[in-house]
Amino acid sequence: MSLTIVTNEGCFNSSAISSGDRHLGTRDRFDASIQYDYPGKAIGCLKAAKMLQSRTGPEASLTLYGPVVDGNGQVVESIKLICSSRMPDLNDLQRGHDEQYLQNLAKCAARSKALADSGQDPFISDFGKEADITPGTLDAARLAVGAAYDVVDIILESTKGDTAFGLIWPPGHHAESDLAMGFCYLSNAALAALYARDHQVQIRPGHRNRVVVIDVDHHRGNGTADVLADQTDTLLIDVSYRSPYDEIRQRFTDGCYDVVQDRYLQSGNEYPYSRPDKDWGLEAHPMATAPNIVSIEFEGEQMPDTIMERFIGEVLPLLRDFDPDLVLWSVGLDSAMGDPIGGLGNLPSSFYTMLRGLRIALPGARHGGLLEGGYDELRWFTCLPPALMALHEQPQDTVNRCKVFARYRGVFEPKP
Ligand SMILES: [Zn+2]
Repeated sequence: MSLTIVTNEGCFNSSAISSGDRHLGTRDRFDASIQYDYPGKAIGCLKAAKMLQSRTGPEASLTLYGPVVDGNGQVVESIKLICSSRMPDLNDLQRGHDEQYLQNLAKCAARSKALADSGQDPFISDFGKEADITPGTLDAARLAVGAAYDVVDIILESTKGDTAFGLIWPPGHHAESDLAMGFCYLSNAALAALYARDHQVQIRPGHRNRVVVIDVDHHRGNGTADVLADQTDTLLIDVSYRSPYDEIRQRFTDGCYDVVQDRYLQSGNEYPYSRPDKDWGLEAHPMATAPNIVSIEFEGEQMPDTIMERFIGEVLPLLRDFDPDLVLWSVGLDSAMGDPIGGLGNLPSSFYTMLRGLRIALPGARHGGLLEGGYDELRWFTCLPPALMALHEQPQDTVNRCKVFARYRGVFEPKP
């Protein structure tokens, strides 16, 4: 069994950080002293993946880290890294996005290129909130979707239950069908889910694939929800922080409501994933609602066990009922405890337990994932490898490498 880690071309170019490379979309990414979302994250994650891949010393478990060769010299387990240059065209992207929106995005990228070619500042900052456009933004976003499609192809076309994970950039879960925001331009996970649903390889021949996206980013996957709402044979489970709604200011905020002072503190930190709405207010965000969108919301930072218990109590039964063919994780490392702009309360063991647990609970499904947010190097290094390990290990392996997983393992075992 193999885990393939798929990156998209350009997103790991380390010179991009300092040079303002074509794939940098948001000015904040290299102007701010704290760089909230920039390719360094992807580079950090890739280093973590390589570290995991190279742990093949005599004391490390070869069956865990591969490659493992059988008596005939065939590789039976491995972790592979591949770089994808697949770039879906705008027609393809209409499976989840508005035609007019895609045309506007293309026009904006062309305008930015013209500015760059004439020696002017190429940043276009009025396209979306925290979604600036540079000459390469559209190509970068298309490459990220292409790599996400490759992830789906690898998983569905494998005859051995192989897994795959997309270390892709830019992220996508805030991009709605007609609106870019929060560093997201194209809705990677939702597009990949629709692509997987309509894939020519059907896990149950004669039936379209049923696909679940599980979004464990700290922030709500508003874009994934918008694109997947009411799409048949898809389900989104969004485990996230619930941003408080400020009635007076008519907007969601990232601040905390102080009951003593009867006001929001730090409400300058506006929750960015908002859009104008005539009923809800100028800066409100009406989240997509549909029977196939399930939100597991938390107000503020949680103890890891609290998140796990709701995952087991609420998410697991839903997934058993839905009986998916493909489980696609939308992994935001900003839901890790202590992330500077997230911090829902997950620990490395939380990511491991959830991903590994579902491989045990849903043995008939294929499993994979895609990277979303995350803003702190320590947490990329500590949380991504356990998530990848959970995708790489044989699900029924009985060696206990994680105490938290061992504690919960029984509840994931399929019901007789
Ligand atoms: Zn996030």
